Amino acid sequence: MSLKITFRRLELPTRPLEEKEYDVVVIGGGPAGVAAAIYAARYMLDAILVTKEKGGQLNKIGYVENYPGILKIMGPELIDRLYEHLAKYKVPVVLDEVIDVKREENKFNVITASDRVFKTETVILALGVVKRKLGVPGEEEFLGRGVSYCAPCDAPLFKDKVVAVVGGGDSAASASLLLAEYARKVYVIHRRSRFRAQPYYIRQMELNPKIEFIFNSNVAEIGGTKTVEWVKIKETGRKIFVNGVFIEIGADPPAEFFRKIGVETDGKGYVKVSKDQSTNIPGIFAAGDCTNAAGAFKQIVVAAAQGAIAADSAYRYIIKEFR
Ligand SMILES: Cc1cc2nc3c(=O)[nH]c(=O)nc-3n(C[C@H](O)[C@H](O)[C@H](O)COP(=O)(O)OP(=O)(O)OC[C@H]3O[C@@H](n4cnc5c(N)ncnc54)[C@H](O)[C@@H]3O)c2cc1C
Repeated sequence: MSLKITFRRLELPTRPLEEKEYDVVVIGGGPAGVAAAIYAARYMLDAILVTKEKGGQLNKIGYVENYPGILKIMGPELIDRLYEHLAKYKVPVVLDEVIDVKREENKFNVITASDRVFKTETVILALGVVKRKLGVPGEEEFLGRGVSYCAPCDAPLFKDKVVAVVGGGDSAASASLLLAEYARKVYVIHRRSRFRAQPYYIRQMELNPKIEFIFNSNVAEIGGTKTVEWVKIKETGRKIFVNGVFIEIGADPPAEFFRKIGVETDGKGYVKVSKDQSTNIPGIFAAGDCTNAAGAFKQIVVAAAQGAIAADSAYRYIIKEFR
């Protein structure tokens, strides 16, 4: 089997990518998907990565300071490093949205929004999560005019301005610390009486004189004229005058997609995986934030580790060597 795989990897890429047959199609190009693709390539599997965009949530991170071996790096810079690493193994990266995965005999057809079909023996789902919306008046209206879901993208626009971050987890903490480097003042509005973020983050926020916490508060409305001017707190009716609002209240997995392709999910829509990252469908594996394995601890290092395990399991599935 390994000989056949080696031979296929040495073929020159003369045909369109979708005319080939793959050992593994990785769906999702965040840390989990990239790690899976790197490991698959190192097992000499014929792999391809299909993703809507490179890097996933790393695009939205300010500084990453907890990835072993890298002291401090901006999220987008870490994406460059990941894809540089992947390029070394010559795994093709296709920028497209996967809309379906259909089983055909003992293979899968991975179908994209632009009608491409990739035939493969195994699939690794690494679709991550999608940011949650607040669902309050003004959120849609002021999107791009003060409302943002991406601090690293928009923080420089708020130099010497006043902003609010809504949320209490790691994402909210990361966003508020980055924003404090630009803004004059950062309010962190959280619906509970304490943060869920890692204690290191909380300490950094507490030490930052520009950051002020507003606990036990939900945002009821975002208002302004041309751009955001205020947020209104539901419990007190207080208007906080801000130029921008960054919404960091968590994220959900693409449960509808998982239902469509038939992988089993938990009550919240995360793919149920075993220790080896296998799903209920033989040949389909899953890794990263979109699985129930990460639990509440959704981190880059965890996603990458699960991607590596998923690739190892896909390899063992292909060579029929089960642990
Ligand atoms: C603001 C913020 C700060 C954070 N800070 C840190 C931190 O400091 N340290 C840390 O360890 N973690 C941090 N995290 C968490 C970390 O980013 C995630 O745990 C990690 O990115 C998960 O990786 P993933 O590959 O599972 O998913 P994602 O990063 O979400 O990637 C999923 C990928 O799948 C693609 N995709 C989705 N659906 C489809 C489809 N149908 N077809 C094709 N492609 C698809 C997406 O486009 C995306 O590229 C932070 C997260 C946020 C939002």
